[in-house]
Amino acid sequence: MKLLRVLPFAKYLLGETVVTGETVVDATAGNGNDTQFLAEQVGENGHVFAFDIQQAALDSTAERLGELNERVTLILDSHDNVEQYVNGQIGGAVFNLGYLPHSEDLSIVTKPDTTIKAIHTMLGMLKKGGIIAVSVYDGHEGGQEERDALLDYVKSLHQSDVHVIRYELLNQRNNPPFLIALEKMKDFSSVKQVE
Ligand code: SAH
Repeated sequence: MKLLRVLPFAKYLLGETVVTGETVVDATAGNGNDTQFLAEQVGENGHVFAFDIQQAALDSTAERLGELNERVTLILDSHDNVEQYVNGQIGGAVFNLGYLPHSEDLSIVTKPDTTIKAIHTMLGMLKKGGIIAVSVYDGHEGGQEERDALLDYVKSLHQSDVHVIRYELLNQRNNPPFLIALEKMKDFSSVKQVE
Protein backbone atom coordinates (compact mmCIF):
# COMPACT_ATOMS: atom_id res chain seq x y z
CA MET A 1 0.00 0.00 0.00
CA LYS A 2 1.50 3.31 -1.06
CA LEU A 3 -1.12 5.73 0.24
CA LEU A 4 -0.55 5.36 3.96
CA ARG A 5 -3.36 5.95 6.40
CA VAL A 6 -3.00 8.98 8.61
CA LEU A 7 -1.33 7.49 11.71
CA PRO A 8 1.24 5.45 9.71
CA PHE A 9 1.98 8.53 7.59
CA ALA A 10 2.61 10.58 10.75
CA LYS A 11 5.05 7.89 11.92
CA TYR A 12 6.68 7.79 8.50
CA LEU A 13 7.37 11.54 8.61
CA LEU A 14 8.79 11.38 12.15
CA GLY A 15 10.87 8.35 11.16
CA GLU A 16 12.38 10.41 8.34
CA THR A 17 13.49 13.22 10.64
CA VAL A 18 14.04 11.95 14.20
CA VAL A 19 17.53 10.52 14.71
CA THR A 20 19.10 8.48 17.50
CA GLY A 21 20.18 10.37 20.59
CA GLU A 22 17.58 13.12 20.22
CA THR A 23 15.04 14.44 22.70
CA VAL A 24 11.47 14.28 21.39
CA VAL A 25 7.96 14.91 22.74
CA ASP A 26 4.76 12.87 22.70
CA ALA A 27 2.31 15.64 23.61
CA THR A 28 -0.67 13.26 24.10
CA ALA A 29 0.55 9.90 25.42
CA GLY A 30 -2.89 8.24 25.35
CA ASN A 31 -2.25 4.51 25.28
CA GLY A 32 1.42 4.98 24.43
CA ASN A 33 1.53 3.87 20.82
CA ASP A 34 3.48 6.93 19.62
CA THR A 35 5.55 7.07 22.82
CA GLN A 36 6.76 3.54 22.07
CA PHE A 37 7.51 4.40 18.45
CA LEU A 38 9.48 7.51 19.45
CA ALA A 39 11.40 5.63 22.17
CA GLU A 40 12.50 3.07 19.58
CA GLN A 41 13.41 5.84 17.16
CA VAL A 42 15.67 7.82 19.54
CA GLY A 43 17.57 4.75 20.76
CA GLU A 44 19.13 4.18 24.16
CA ASN A 45 20.88 7.56 24.24
CA GLY A 46 17.79 9.54 23.27
CA HIS A 47 14.85 10.59 25.39
CA VAL A 48 11.07 10.94 25.06
CA PHE A 49 8.99 13.29 27.21
CA ALA A 50 5.38 12.05 27.15
CA PHE A 51 2.57 14.24 28.45
CA ASP A 52 -0.99 13.38 29.43
CA ILE A 53 -3.46 14.95 31.86
CA GLN A 54 -4.92 11.52 32.77
CA GLN A 55 -3.02 9.17 35.07
CA ALA A 56 -4.80 6.20 33.42
CA ALA A 57 -3.18 7.14 30.09
CA LEU A 58 0.29 7.36 31.64
CA ASP A 59 -0.26 4.00 33.39
CA SER A 60 -1.21 2.28 30.16
CA THR A 61 1.74 3.94 28.40
CA ALA A 62 4.16 2.72 31.10
CA GLU A 63 2.76 -0.79 30.81
CA ARG A 64 3.22 -0.81 27.05
CA LEU A 65 6.79 0.52 27.25
CA GLY A 66 8.34 -2.18 29.44
CA GLU A 67 12.14 -1.77 29.29
CA LEU A 68 11.74 1.29 27.07
CA ASN A 69 10.55 3.18 30.19
CA GLU A 70 14.26 3.96 30.76
CA ARG A 71 14.18 6.29 27.76
CA VAL A 72 10.91 7.97 28.66
CA THR A 73 9.76 10.55 31.20
CA LEU A 74 6.00 10.44 31.78
CA ILE A 75 4.53 13.78 32.82
CA LEU A 76 1.08 14.25 34.35
CA ASP A 77 0.52 17.79 33.14
CA SER A 78 -0.79 19.71 30.16
CA HIS A 79 1.46 19.76 27.10
CA ASP A 80 1.41 23.57 26.95
CA ASN A 81 3.66 23.54 30.04
CA VAL A 82 6.35 21.72 28.03
CA GLU A 83 9.01 24.36 28.76
CA GLN A 84 8.80 23.59 32.50
CA TYR A 85 10.01 20.05 31.83
CA VAL A 86 12.05 19.97 28.63
CA ASN A 87 15.26 21.97 28.14
CA GLY A 88 17.04 22.60 24.87
CA GLN A 89 16.19 21.48 21.39
CA ILE A 90 13.68 18.80 20.43
CA GLY A 91 13.99 16.59 17.34
CA GLY A 92 10.23 16.27 16.77
CA ALA A 93 6.83 16.06 18.43
CA VAL A 94 3.56 14.23 17.96
CA PHE A 95 -0.02 15.07 18.96
CA ASN A 96 -3.17 12.94 18.80
CA LEU A 97 -6.11 15.22 19.47
CA GLY A 98 -9.49 14.30 20.92
CA TYR A 99 -10.31 11.86 23.73
CA LEU A 100 -8.64 8.71 25.01
CA PRO A 101 -10.38 5.78 23.29
CA HIS A 102 -12.16 3.37 25.68
CA SER A 103 -11.61 5.72 28.60
CA GLU A 104 -14.21 6.02 31.39
CA ASP A 105 -14.56 9.76 30.79
CA LEU A 106 -14.77 10.61 27.09
CA SER A 107 -15.36 14.27 27.97
CA ILE A 108 -11.64 14.74 28.69
CA VAL A 109 -10.46 16.07 25.33
CA THR A 110 -7.70 18.30 23.99
CA LYS A 111 -8.69 21.97 23.80
CA PRO A 112 -7.96 24.63 21.18
CA ASP A 113 -6.07 27.09 23.40
CA THR A 114 -3.72 24.60 25.03
CA THR A 115 -3.19 22.63 21.81
CA ILE A 116 -2.18 25.77 19.91
CA LYS A 117 -0.04 27.13 22.73
CA ALA A 118 1.78 23.78 22.95
CA ILE A 119 2.42 23.62 19.20
CA HIS A 120 3.55 27.24 19.20
CA THR A 121 6.01 26.63 22.05
CA MET A 122 7.33 23.40 20.52
CA LEU A 123 7.92 25.11 17.16
CA GLY A 124 10.36 27.36 19.00
CA MET A 125 12.10 24.35 20.59
CA LEU A 126 12.18 22.25 17.40
CA LYS A 127 15.37 21.66 15.41
CA LYS A 128 15.55 23.09 11.89
CA GLY A 129 14.18 20.37 9.59
CA GLY A 130 12.21 18.82 12.46
CA ILE A 131 8.54 17.86 12.21
CA ILE A 132 5.51 18.24 14.48
CA ALA A 133 2.79 15.76 13.46
CA VAL A 134 -0.77 16.46 14.66
CA SER A 135 -3.53 13.89 14.07
CA VAL A 136 -6.82 15.78 14.20
CA TYR A 137 -10.07 14.09 15.25
CA ASP A 138 -13.09 16.34 14.79
CA GLY A 139 -16.03 13.96 15.34
CA HIS A 140 -16.57 14.65 19.07
CA GLU A 141 -18.18 17.64 20.79
CA GLY A 142 -15.76 20.57 20.58
CA GLY A 143 -13.69 18.81 17.92
CA GLN A 144 -14.80 21.08 15.11
CA GLU A 145 -13.93 24.23 17.08
CA GLU A 146 -10.49 22.83 17.86
CA ARG A 147 -9.96 21.82 14.22
CA ASP A 148 -10.93 25.27 12.92
CA ALA A 149 -8.82 27.14 15.47
CA LEU A 150 -5.85 24.93 14.65
CA LEU A 151 -6.26 25.43 10.90
CA ASP A 152 -6.44 29.22 11.39
CA TYR A 153 -3.31 29.10 13.52
CA VAL A 154 -1.17 27.01 11.17
CA LYS A 155 -2.23 29.11 8.17
CA SER A 156 -0.98 32.19 10.05
CA LEU A 157 2.60 30.87 10.14
CA HIS A 158 4.95 32.45 7.63
CA GLN A 159 5.95 30.08 4.82
CA SER A 160 9.62 30.97 5.15
CA ASP A 161 9.53 29.82 8.80
CA VAL A 162 7.32 26.73 8.67
CA HIS A 163 5.86 24.52 5.94
CA VAL A 164 2.49 23.05 6.81
CA ILE A 165 0.64 20.21 5.10
CA ARG A 166 -2.78 18.64 5.53
CA TYR A 167 -3.05 14.95 4.62
CA GLU A 168 -6.27 12.96 4.58
CA LEU A 169 -8.01 9.99 3.01
CA LEU A 170 -11.11 11.41 1.39
CA ASN A 171 -13.31 8.30 1.07
CA GLN A 172 -13.12 6.81 4.59
CA ARG A 173 -16.17 6.59 6.83
CA ASN A 174 -16.64 7.13 10.58
CA ASN A 175 -14.74 10.38 11.02
CA PRO A 176 -11.17 9.25 10.42
CA PRO A 177 -8.46 11.66 11.57
CA PHE A 178 -6.55 13.91 9.21
CA LEU A 179 -2.95 14.97 9.65
CA ILE A 180 -1.44 18.41 10.01
CA ALA A 181 2.35 18.24 9.75
CA LEU A 182 4.63 21.23 10.33
CA GLU A 183 8.26 21.33 9.22
CA LYS A 184 10.55 24.00 10.65
CA MET A 185 12.41 25.64 7.77
CA LYS A 186 14.89 27.84 9.62
CA ASP A 187 16.24 28.50 13.08
CA PHE A 188 14.11 30.65 15.37
CA SER A 189 13.27 30.39 19.04
CA SER A 190 9.85 31.99 18.78
CA VAL A 191 7.77 31.69 15.63
CA LYS A 192 5.95 34.75 14.26
CA GLN A 193 2.36 34.84 13.08
CA VAL A 194 1.19 36.94 10.15
CA GLU A 195 -2.24 38.56 9.88
N1 SAH B 1 -8.43 10.51 19.49
C1 SAH B 1 -7.29 9.62 19.40
C2 SAH B 1 -6.54 9.48 20.69
C3 SAH B 1 -6.34 10.77 21.37
S1 SAH B 1 -5.70 10.48 22.90
C4 SAH B 1 -7.78 8.23 18.95
O1 SAH B 1 -8.97 8.04 18.81
O2 SAH B 1 -6.93 7.35 18.76
C5 SAH B 1 -5.62 12.12 23.49
C6 SAH B 1 -4.99 12.14 24.83
O3 SAH B 1 -4.67 13.49 25.08
C7 SAH B 1 -5.88 11.66 25.97
O4 SAH B 1 -5.25 10.62 26.66
C8 SAH B 1 -6.04 12.91 26.85
O5 SAH B 1 -6.05 12.62 28.24
C9 SAH B 1 -4.81 13.70 26.47
N2 SAH B 1 -4.91 15.14 26.70
C10 SAH B 1 -6.00 15.94 26.63
N3 SAH B 1 -5.67 17.22 26.90
C11 SAH B 1 -4.33 17.23 27.15
C12 SAH B 1 -3.40 18.25 27.51
N4 SAH B 1 -3.79 19.52 27.62
N5 SAH B 1 -2.11 17.89 27.68
C13 SAH B 1 -1.71 16.62 27.53
N6 SAH B 1 -2.55 15.60 27.21
C14 SAH B 1 -3.85 15.91 27.02
